[in-house]
Amino acid sequence: MTEKWRINCKTAAINFAEQRDISCNEQYMINLFRKTETKTWITTSKGYIVPLKENLMSSTKTYAAQEATTPLAPWTIKRRAPKPHDVEIQILYCGVCHSDLHTARNEWGGTIFPCVPGHEIVGKVTAVGDHVKKFKAGDLAGVGCLVDSCRDCDNCKEGLEQYCSNGMVGTYNGKEKDGSGNTYGGYSKSIVVHEDFVLHISDKLPLEAVAPLLCAGITTYSPLRHWKIGKGHKVGILGLGGLGHMGVKLAAAMGAEVTMLSHTASKEADAKRLGAHQFVLTSDAEQVKKVTGNFDFILDIVSADHDYNFYLSLLRTNGVMVCVGAPPSPAQIPAFNLIFGRKSFAGSLIGGLPETQEMLDYCAEHNIVSDVEVIAMKDINEAYERMLKGDVRYRFVIDMATL
Ligand SMILES: [Zn+2]
Ligand SMILES: [Zn+2]
Repeated sequence: MTEKWRINCKTAAINFAEQRDISCNEQYMINLFRKTETKTWITTSKGYIVPLKENLMSSTKTYAAQEATTPLAPWTIKRRAPKPHDVEIQILYCGVCHSDLHTARNEWGGTIFPCVPGHEIVGKVTAVGDHVKKFKAGDLAGVGCLVDSCRDCDNCKEGLEQYCSNGMVGTYNGKEKDGSGNTYGGYSKSIVVHEDFVLHISDKLPLEAVAPLLCAGITTYSPLRHWKIGKGHKVGILGLGGLGHMGVKLAAAMGAEVTMLSHTASKEADAKRLGAHQFVLTSDAEQVKKVTGNFDFILDIVSADHDYNFYLSLLRTNGVMVCVGAPPSPAQIPAFNLIFGRKSFAGSLIGGLPETQEMLDYCAEHNIVSDVEVIAMKDINEAYERMLKGDVRYRFVIDMATL
């Protein structure tokens, strides 16, 4: 036994006992760790040195909904120790998405309680498994809406993991593919994720404002890229909130002529500040007339029921309207509204891992971030209420130092 090995064993033994709040029989622990014969030691988020091959779960503080009707409150979970391809991340900021609220309150059904929401995660790598090549301790890292997929179906092979034919695993409210349990999201001190689902984050941008890019950013970036939006295109953005404000910034950066479509006149100044070239008040018939048959592309972010046909009439020939919001009622669209003008009505879901990395790199290069209001973890329930009223410019982000 080398001196370094002995010291590591001893430290691990003490840490092992300390993490579990048990007294440490040093010799017993050293013997236990010797059996693992690991050559790799990792440092966990709490600064504990542990042998990689020991499946030491670490306790992690979170905020969770225990039931659909209870407010979010502190709860402790166990995160797995990093496996050979895993990256352990100390979460610094987590954005607050509308999906978090819907899931915590079981508004879409199927919520697994207790539920720890959060899928706009940025933080610092604290440990990596010994096969991880892309990350090392100290790197900035991000995790978005998914943490696993089959990697084998046509969609996965194309980097469209969000459409995995065998079902992607959500960052929260999902089930780990190895049967080890439920997934818990970013309202948490740390997370352990397979390196394939971890993203590189630039240090050029303020981290708290980068967090919302992991869901709101990619959800708007992906359809703009898929339909190759750029210079010469007239783009309408419908809905100015967490997603909409990213849609405006991204479409404008890509060179499109951007129009904010809104029924709230007071949003005009903000829309223009964010980069919109025009503002159309949709309740004003004169303004609407000017943009009828005008747009190449409309990005529809509204998740309340609304009349799709009205907006389809604003598309020019070959125009495309893409929904990323999901209203409760089914769409009622007469086929003629698409046939005349060869129009398309489409949908889009977040983005795959390669495209999410591309979006993060694009935002770093073009200095694009989300407009955020940073909150303390304890204020999450109040933030949900304000979010329901649209009272946020434009994304809440939790400072995880407050958990
Ligand atoms: Zn989201
Ligand atoms: Zn797949």
